[in-house]
Amino acid sequence: MYPAVRVALSAPYIPAMDLDFSEAEINRYSRHILLREVGGPGQARLRAAKVLLVGAGGLGSPLLLYLAAAGVGTIGLVDDDVVDLSNLQRQIAHTTASIGADKVASAAAAARAINPDVTVVPHKLRLAPSNALDLFADYDIVCDGTDNFATRFLVADACVLARKTLVSAAVLRFEGQLSVFKPHAGPECPCYRCLFPAPPPDGMVPTCSEAGVLGAVTGVMGTLQATEVLKEILSIGETLAGRLLVSDALATRFRTIRLKRDPACPACGPHATLRDLSAHRIADPACAV
Ligand code: ZN
Repeated sequence: MYPAVRVALSAPYIPAMDLDFSEAEINRYSRHILLREVGGPGQARLRAAKVLLVGAGGLGSPLLLYLAAAGVGTIGLVDDDVVDLSNLQRQIAHTTASIGADKVASAAAAARAINPDVTVVPHKLRLAPSNALDLFADYDIVCDGTDNFATRFLVADACVLARKTLVSAAVLRFEGQLSVFKPHAGPECPCYRCLFPAPPPDGMVPTCSEAGVLGAVTGVMGTLQATEVLKEILSIGETLAGRLLVSDALATRFRTIRLKRDPACPACGPHATLRDLSAHRIADPACAV
């Protein structure tokens, strides 16, 4: 065990919520409830939280399983794909027996097997400008685990318009990136477009299906993504908003880069031009990593 690390605690705002737990729930979440930073009120916050996962693949798998295990009360899953043999090297929510099944159904079954108390809502659809805002309205936090820039920018812009916190992870080969974007939370918190103003030209950045990815790297990044989601729900620790975590598995190295709000940002700046999602064209399916 390492020496204790001081945790900067913000005062969590706890809305009126049900603090009654069954004996089984107290037992299931006992290691959370023991944590001073979580406790019974924190566990009740997790139970009241609604989190949407875009992509039920390499990142979405560990993310979903840990959020379900943690007792996040409502978890939505967006994916229009079916399980393929080539997914199983990293997408650990799916099994060989589920090849050919809808990913949202396969992943939801895995989550329910871990924790039948949580509600998993499968949305078998391709995220599109026409459905993104309606879908996001039902959730508190949105997580991006997709593998194409068209969907990433759509998710990011819809989050800005809907004022939803975006916990975004990405992987390629042996590298991963993770950040939290919530420009509605204050001037220190940039949005995705403060970092990436526009999608790269087609073909400039390869996808995992073109360049490959070490399966365990998606597990590391999806698990870190789950950790940041839980921190955001619980309002504990230091938020990753305003910082980008970059990991290099070959060097076993993590670093964080400070991110600033871009005053010229087209999505969250004072002269933002983002009003709706009509500029988006979704050519690729919202396939997950
Ligand atoms: Zn911005």
